[in-house]
Amino acid sequence: MIRFHNTLSGKVEEFVPIEPGRVKLYTCGPTVYDYPHIGNWRAYIFEDLLKRFLRFRGFDVTHVMNITDVDDKTIKGAAAKGMSLEDYTRPYIEAFYAERDILNALPADHYPRATEGDNIQGMVAIIKSLLDKGYAYRKDGSVYFAIDKFPSYGRLSKINLEDRRPGSRGDADDYEKDSVHDFALWKAPKKGEPVWETEIGPGRPGWHIECSAMSSRFLGLTFDIHCGGVDNIFPHHENEIAQSEAANGVKFVNYWLHCHHLIVDGEKMSKSKGNFYRLSDILAKGYAPEEVRFLLLSTHYRKMINFTEEALAQARTSRNRIRNLLFELRHIERDLPPAPAVAQAIETARAGFASGLEDDLNISEALAALFELVRSVNTVVSRGELGREDAQSVIDFVADIDDKVLACLTRDAPAPADADTLEAWVREKIETRQKARAGKDFRRADEIRRELLEAGIVLEDTKDGVRWKKAGTAKS
Ligand SMILES: [Zn+2]
Repeated sequence: MIRFHNTLSGKVEEFVPIEPGRVKLYTCGPTVYDYPHIGNWRAYIFEDLLKRFLRFRGFDVTHVMNITDVDDKTIKGAAAKGMSLEDYTRPYIEAFYAERDILNALPADHYPRATEGDNIQGMVAIIKSLLDKGYAYRKDGSVYFAIDKFPSYGRLSKINLEDRRPGSRGDADDYEKDSVHDFALWKAPKKGEPVWETEIGPGRPGWHIECSAMSSRFLGLTFDIHCGGVDNIFPHHENEIAQSEAANGVKFVNYWLHCHHLIVDGEKMSKSKGNFYRLSDILAKGYAPEEVRFLLLSTHYRKMINFTEEALAQARTSRNRIRNLLFELRHIERDLPPAPAVAQAIETARAGFASGLEDDLNISEALAALFELVRSVNTVVSRGELGREDAQSVIDFVADIDDKVLACLTRDAPAPADADTLEAWVREKIETRQKARAGKDFRRADEIRRELLEAGIVLEDTKDGVRWKKAGTAKS
């Protein structure tokens, strides 16, 4: 049985998809007014773990992630640079895709952009229906959602509705919980802002309506899971529910899953504090993308991640414990009859890994099952009692859960095939290794030597420096 914490009920519930064997998943994507930061990746990696786990459990998952390319922030940014929205947002969209691939997150099935195709038409159709049904009203060329007309408003975020002033309105896409008010579905034309001519009049959409329109376009009026960060709960997701359910008359989403924030060195990340990290900043410190991914996914999604150098180093150490064992296993040559204890340990690990994740994605339990296997296999290896066949079974098991779920343990960037790029690749590895040795990080230095060895590159430390050759050749 799979169970998830549903923000809507505030409880951990059994997960039952609408259609057996299929899951329809919507995750709020980036607002592309800037490059993604590591806090954004916390949410996207949680969503990737969720999706990979559901696939691992045999579900056919349809995943939609929107890209917000028109909202207050993108409009302001584009205007400040005198650029079109398209030109302004393009590099941020490209960076998002590139970093997604670096962090081994699976691509969504659809990435609709708000301004693309007839997505604006889809938003207008919902707003029109809300006007027709009396849930929305016009004011000075804009259209607002009347929250008093929707009695269950506030159910997701549990906000206090008593303090609001009836009929108070706001145009900002984002606002605080203590200023709950009627929100803009459609914004009247303003100087310097993009305008669409539509059947409800000229203007541009508010942020919240984008997700209501784009989720139903691909997933239908009711779908299984909607994710985001806790900061999306109010007002964004609360408003999505109000718009969609008022317009369609059916339940919008069955399960709402929200991940907690990422903080850096115990503080909220912000550019002014100088603790603002992009993925590239962390890679520049010498960490591998897989180590960053390991750190991001190894904290349960409903707990805050405190992102520190120590936490990164800890992630590296934990990940290396698994990788070091795999390295040893790959080099076991002896033929011994399979030991029943090893098969048993693998089965226990497999069951523990799955049951951990089934329990509201309890990654700590899932990883504990894996580390218990590492510990027990290490014991057998150190006694010299593990044969090649058992070694392969352990390797296959780890490769399987890594390939399907964790996606950060076994893969190394493959060595380039052509000679010139290979030369540069090896030189860079050697340099990183020298730095590690200079910093007395001998474990890291050994690891790089192993990585090179696995790529068929042999290092020789000579008094003139480090030389290398491809194993089996004379070249150095
Ligand atoms: Zn959204």
